[in-house]
Amino acid sequence: MATKLRFAPSPTGLIHIGNARTAILNYLYARKHGGEFLLRMDDTDLERSKPEFADAIERDLAWLGLNWDQKERQSDRIARYLEMAEKLKAAGRLYPCYETADELDRKRKRQLARGMPPIYDRKALSLSRDDVAKFEAEGRKPHWRFRLANTPSDTPVEPVATQVTWDDLVRGAQMVDVGSLSDPVLIREDGTFLYTLTSVIDDWDLGVTHIIRGDDHITNTGVQVQLFEAVGAKAPAFGHHSLLTAADGKALSKRLGSLSLASLREQGLEAMAVVSHAALIGTSDAIEPHKTIESLAELFDVGKISTAPARFSEDELRGLNAKLLHTLSYGDVAERLQAMGVTDGEAFWQAVSGNLEILSDAQAWWSVVSGPITPVIENADFLAKASTALPATPWDQDTWKTWTNQVKAETGAKGRALFHPLRLALTGQESGPEMKALLPLIGRDRVVQRLQGEQA
Ligand code: GLU
Repeated sequence: MATKLRFAPSPTGLIHIGNARTAILNYLYARKHGGEFLLRMDDTDLERSKPEFADAIERDLAWLGLNWDQKERQSDRIARYLEMAEKLKAAGRLYPCYETADELDRKRKRQLARGMPPIYDRKALSLSRDDVAKFEAEGRKPHWRFRLANTPSDTPVEPVATQVTWDDLVRGAQMVDVGSLSDPVLIREDGTFLYTLTSVIDDWDLGVTHIIRGDDHITNTGVQVQLFEAVGAKAPAFGHHSLLTAADGKALSKRLGSLSLASLREQGLEAMAVVSHAALIGTSDAIEPHKTIESLAELFDVGKISTAPARFSEDELRGLNAKLLHTLSYGDVAERLQAMGVTDGEAFWQAVSGNLEILSDAQAWWSVVSGPITPVIENADFLAKASTALPATPWDQDTWKTWTNQVKAETGAKGRALFHPLRLALTGQESGPEMKALLPLIGRDRVVQRLQGEQA
C-alpha cells in the first residue's frame, strides 16, 4: 500500500508550534518515503469547530510550505460514520447508555471513595426493555459506548487485564491495558460523533498507513487498535512523539497566543526557521537552519525522534532565524528587500545579513546606509582630524583599513578609542555590521557630513 500520512487538527483554535511539529513530522515522513500527505479537519465538534479556524490552519500550513495532496473534512463524512455505527451496534460493540453526566459523576465518586478505579461499570448492558422505555419516555437520549474487548466472554462483563500491543515507530514496543479503561463514548447524546471513532473510519477509508502524533494519544491508540479490529480494518503504524513544552516545562496550550503560528509569522520569523526548528527539536540531529523542506526530508528518520520531552524556547527560534538569514543569498531575499525600499541590494545584504534577527531589521540598517541618521559625536576634534584623513574615492572594502591606519598615525588613537568614535559618528549605533563593509555603502559625502555632526 502506498505510504500515506495525515495531519488531523480540530479547527477549534489557532495552531501553535507544537501542533506544527506534529504536522511537519508527518509531512517529512511522507515526503521521505515518496508518500502522500492528507490534511483532515476533525470538525465533528460542531459547537467548538469554526470555519475561520480551519481557514487559519490552512493559511499557517501553506506559509510553512506543507503542501497537502488531499483535503477532507469530517463534517462531510457523517453518512459514512452513521453507516459504520449501525454495523458496530448490530455487532454488539456499540451500546446505548442513559446515565446523565451527574449520575456518572456520582458513580465515579462512589468508586473512588471505595478505593476502586473510576471505570464505567457497564450497567447499561443489563438494561431491560422496560428500563429503556422508561428513559425514553422521560425524554432521555442515549449516548453510545464502544464495548472494549476485555472480557473472556460476554458474561461476566467485568473487565480483566487485556494487553493491546504495537511496535511504536518512536517508542518501540508499547502496551496499553484496555482492561483498565472505561468503554469510551463514541456518540454523544446529541448524535454527534467523537473523534476516536471517526478518525479510525477515516484512516481506514482514506488509506492512512502511518500516524505520528503526540504521546498524549497513547491510551487512545490502545482503544483505536481495537476499533480498527472491530470495523474489520488493519491498524496503521503508530509513532508517538513527546509533547513540546514551553520554557517553564508546561504543555503548550492552543490558547498560548504568542506561540501560535500566526503570531510567529507576524513577528517576522522565516517559515523555514520555524520548520527547521520544529522538525529538529527533540531529535538526535543538530538544530540547524535548512533552506528547503526537501533537505529536511532527506535527513528525516522517525527513529531519530527522542522520547524525552522537548522544550521549546522562543529565544532559540529567534537565534535560528538569525542563522538562517545569514545563510540566505541576496537572490533569496531580493524581492522582499526591494519591497522595503532597499535599492543597492547585493553589497548591502552581504554587509548586514549577519546582523539581523529578522529580515525587517534590514530596514534600520538601510537607513544607516542611506540616511538620514543623527550621528553620535563624542570628540569633535578627533572626528575633524579623521575627516581630513579620508581617502579619495572610489572606495572599497579596504578603504576602512587605509583610513583608520592614517587616523591612527595622525592622532595616536588606537583600539577602541580609534574605532568606536568613528562607528558612533557614522552609524549612530554602538554596534553593528563591520565598518569596512558599511563605509563604502554610506559613501564619502555622507561620511564627511556625519563626521561634522550633521544629520545625513
Ligand atoms: N484531531 C485529533 C487531535 O487534534 C487528531 C489526533 C490524531 O492525530 O489522531 O488531537
